[in-house]
Amino acid sequence: MEHPREPRRRTVGVRVGDVVIGGGAPVVVQSMTDTDTADVAATVAQVRALAEAGSELVRVTVNNPDAAEAVPEVRRALDRSGCRVPLVGDFHYNGDRLLTRYPECARALAKYRINPGNVGFGEKRDERFATMVEAAIEYGRPVRIGVNWGSLDQSLATRLMNENAKAEEPKSAAEVTREALVQSALRSAEQAEALGLGRDRIVISCKVSEVQELVAVYRELAARADHALHLGLTEAGMGSKGIVASAAALAVLLQEGIGDTIRISLTPEPGGERTREVVVAQELLQTMGLRSFAPLVTACPGCGRTTSAFFRELAETIQGHLRESMTVWRERYEGVEDMRVAVMGCVVNGPGESKHANIGISLPGTGEQPAAPVYIDGERAMILRGPAIADEFRRIVDDYVESRYPRRDPG
Ligand code: SF4
Repeated sequence: MEHPREPRRRTVGVRVGDVVIGGGAPVVVQSMTDTDTADVAATVAQVRALAEAGSELVRVTVNNPDAAEAVPEVRRALDRSGCRVPLVGDFHYNGDRLLTRYPECARALAKYRINPGNVGFGEKRDERFATMVEAAIEYGRPVRIGVNWGSLDQSLATRLMNENAKAEEPKSAAEVTREALVQSALRSAEQAEALGLGRDRIVISCKVSEVQELVAVYRELAARADHALHLGLTEAGMGSKGIVASAAALAVLLQEGIGDTIRISLTPEPGGERTREVVVAQELLQTMGLRSFAPLVTACPGCGRTTSAFFRELAETIQGHLRESMTVWRERYEGVEDMRVAVMGCVVNGPGESKHANIGISLPGTGEQPAAPVYIDGERAMILRGPAIADEFRRIVDDYVESRYPRRDPG
């Protein structure tokens, strides 16, 4: 079924290692570590976990000499373990010095993030910015000019506010702030280009933490520039709030064809997994029909017709099994990421929804026969009974994958 969606905006493509951002390439998922980068073992472990979860780029903070010295070690350890994910260095305040004094760090990174609001003031700002751009040119690396309203270039913001105060029809403070964000990014990009960095080496972002502001800022950016855009709601927050706010903002923009790479800035809950932000980013792109990463489970919410939490557990078990299996399936079977599985709680919507999926199971609700029909490619294929329904259904899913999706050519 065709769904109405604006065509992707054609931006200038930027290569980061083997990954391409923009230029019509699929939207790239990226993430960031929260380890002390100088702690090589912890950083390697987290980068690997993020990459295994599906992060196509991983950013690490490079905030001091210890971190800059650790970056090449992290890169080497990742390479030794077979993890090729490109590393992006996040620089603030001292990026010029770190990139100059630690050339191995500059080489080990596939992209540099420069925050124009945190480079310095006046002439110093221009010098430091130029030094970072020159490092990018010297090492053949792209940069992200990453503006954030929490660290907006204050001299630019003040100047625009003063000009606005004298205008015949002054704009609101929010509008002026948006303009300052966009100008900060675009002027810095112009400056980088004037220094010799090609537009195919520049990604832009302008992050804010409010949904409507983010939508307005990126619409403006997209109207005024053809640079590749990194999209994300900064400081999105914890749990469902962070997920909902990010999805609400990013979905509007992605639907309009805006955004070439995304990051979901979730605050992990205590004991929570850092990889959650990667899963959320993938699920956002997949549920919007923009990319496919792993089979999705359609499950009903349950209601008074269900007798137990069994169907919820089954939905969770199956979703977990699919995600785990994908590490092998992805390499082995073509197209398996598009598979849809339904786990439904009773006969009301169970058979119908199951028929829409590649494989579906309709569990018995209250008062129904203790039997669970399984549908494969729209047809009722078998009925499961007894305590081993979960294991049997998992086996059926595995057999389906084996028989339905062609093996990839190992060569
Ligand atoms: S499919 Fe059945 S159990 Fe699930 S929500 Fe609908 S009526 Fe309730």
